[in-house]
Amino acid sequence: MVDYMDYEKLGLKMGLEIHQQLNTKKKLFCPCACELTDKKPLYHVLRNLRPTQSELGKIDRAAFEESRRKSEFIYDAYPYHTCLVESDDEPPHPLNQEALEIGLIIASLMKMQVFDEFHTMRKQVIDGSNTGGFQRTGLIASKGYIDTPHGRVIIENLCLEEDAARRMGQRKGKMEFRLDRLGIPLLEITTDPSMKHPEQARDVAHQIGQLLRSTRVKRGLGTIRQDLNISIKDGARVEVKGVQDLDSMAKLVENEVKRQINLIKIKNELQSRKAQVYEELHDVKEIFSDTKSKIISKAVSTGGVVLTIKLEGFKGLIGMEVQPGRRFGTELAGYAKKMGVAGIFHTDELPAYGISQEEVEAVNKFLEIDKEDAFILVADMEEKSRKALLEVIRRAKTALEAVPEETRRALEDANTEYLRPLPTASRMYVETDIPAQTISRALLEDIRANLPELPSEKKARIMEQYGLSEDLANQLVRRDKVEQFEDIMVNSKVDATLVASTISYTLKEIERDGYLVDKLFANNQLEETFQLLIDEKVSKDAVPQVLMGVLRDNISAEDAAKKLNLMMISEEQVLDIIKKIVSTNGKLLHERGQGAMGSLMGMAMKELKAKADGQLVNKLLREEIQKYLHQNE
Ligand SMILES: [Zn+2]
Repeated sequence: MVDYMDYEKLGLKMGLEIHQQLNTKKKLFCPCACELTDKKPLYHVLRNLRPTQSELGKIDRAAFEESRRKSEFIYDAYPYHTCLVESDDEPPHPLNQEALEIGLIIASLMKMQVFDEFHTMRKQVIDGSNTGGFQRTGLIASKGYIDTPHGRVIIENLCLEEDAARRMGQRKGKMEFRLDRLGIPLLEITTDPSMKHPEQARDVAHQIGQLLRSTRVKRGLGTIRQDLNISIKDGARVEVKGVQDLDSMAKLVENEVKRQINLIKIKNELQSRKAQVYEELHDVKEIFSDTKSKIISKAVSTGGVVLTIKLEGFKGLIGMEVQPGRRFGTELAGYAKKMGVAGIFHTDELPAYGISQEEVEAVNKFLEIDKEDAFILVADMEEKSRKALLEVIRRAKTALEAVPEETRRALEDANTEYLRPLPTASRMYVETDIPAQTISRALLEDIRANLPELPSEKKARIMEQYGLSEDLANQLVRRDKVEQFEDIMVNSKVDATLVASTISYTLKEIERDGYLVDKLFANNQLEETFQLLIDEKVSKDAVPQVLMGVLRDNISAEDAAKKLNLMMISEEQVLDIIKKIVSTNGKLLHERGQGAMGSLMGMAMKELKAKADGQLVNKLLREEIQKYLHQNE
């Protein structure tokens, strides 16, 4: 990778936070299934959430921000996936021990110091994703490490916590959540913010992913979530949520660093211009009584307003690009949108969107705009517009001082967008419904004596033990099929490479045709098929078709082979068929002699494919041709 940014000089610092769902039988504090559902909800619960003070009497910044928005929520509940614990109508049950043990395994794999007691805490979250207005979480261990080529990275904390409810979108003007995900056990792994290079962050994320996959964790989309804290010198700590794939991580860091560099440039320019943000909001809808702008005319005709503010010294900077394709104006708009408006209009992009030069000039005149000044317009219902502009004012004022500390969302193009302010530490308080639990040293020692084999170790071992290629070993590990592979190898004498490639590639193809291949393992049908091969009842070439037949008709491997006419035939039968081919192709043999071998082999294999060994067919055919040519000389 081309590394054209001097991250060290920029003072780049990164920390990782990884959330991994566990694959336990029950949820963390109730006996419900840890599965998501798409079924119709059994009933709905309606809730309002408000921020509360922390133990120290402070109100969390992020919670306060949420409370300024509408906070009525609908929750979907289900018979098997949710109970009264999820809807916060019943106290939590005792802590899930299976989840705690998985946490202890991960803590041990990262060489962390495990605490003597597990204390369940409440972390305030009032965006609606938790019915009680808090998430239950507890610290298992601290101070572990992961080694990378760029140096050692400290694993600060490992927490066991509840996953949040799933956000489903708006319904009847309220935010709807599904309760199925709420309470699924989650491990939260936090590194220190010492990583100085994107490659290092990627490496740590990869290694932690490997450790997690050596235990009972959920697999697939959405089951692991990575957040990245990024800051540069003179910038600010920004938490980027939902970094999906490790490959785009370097690009994402680069774009965030660019954003912070540009915001610092904007700050310096604003300071040198002695820029100022005016807090007065003005309704200028009279100016737009005949406007061609659809958004503005719709707002005016439905009883809304066209509010504007003056930003002294901001001209030219709002239109400045801060991330690829995203301007400083996009940052301001991000804050406004959180209050429910569709967006903002700003000086640097006008006239446009149906807003005319005359209208721009009229607003300029009204606000007494000078040549370095800018204005922002928002057209919507009054309350929404006012709240949106107050947010723009807040963001614009910050721009005069610093890069704001924010939580941002990772976008698919490796850019980020504003989500909410960074939470402060004032959001933890004690969960009084659950007693502290002692973590016994005996249990910990037992766990440490029986740590699982890591995927990388597993791969190296099966390559060595079975003589597998790196590709096949990789496939088996990645598809989580090493155990099944080894079960077959214990009982059968088939070639390891054939078994591995059947599991890795043949089954993948069969799966693509819509069959559920896991049944083959559950019913030992894969082993049966290999047994037919050992007994020389079917050939190697017949294996895929036999397996498909087994799945299609739900029958034994032998029955499938018979039904598909794939059972091997005896050497005499093969010879009979070959003799027939030779005797009916006298003309060809007469013309081409030995040169006819290729054509005849093609005919023989067409008839005998998968029912006889190719080498045998080749040998017998060669002999028969020689005999024929000799007799007819
Ligand atoms: Zn439950």
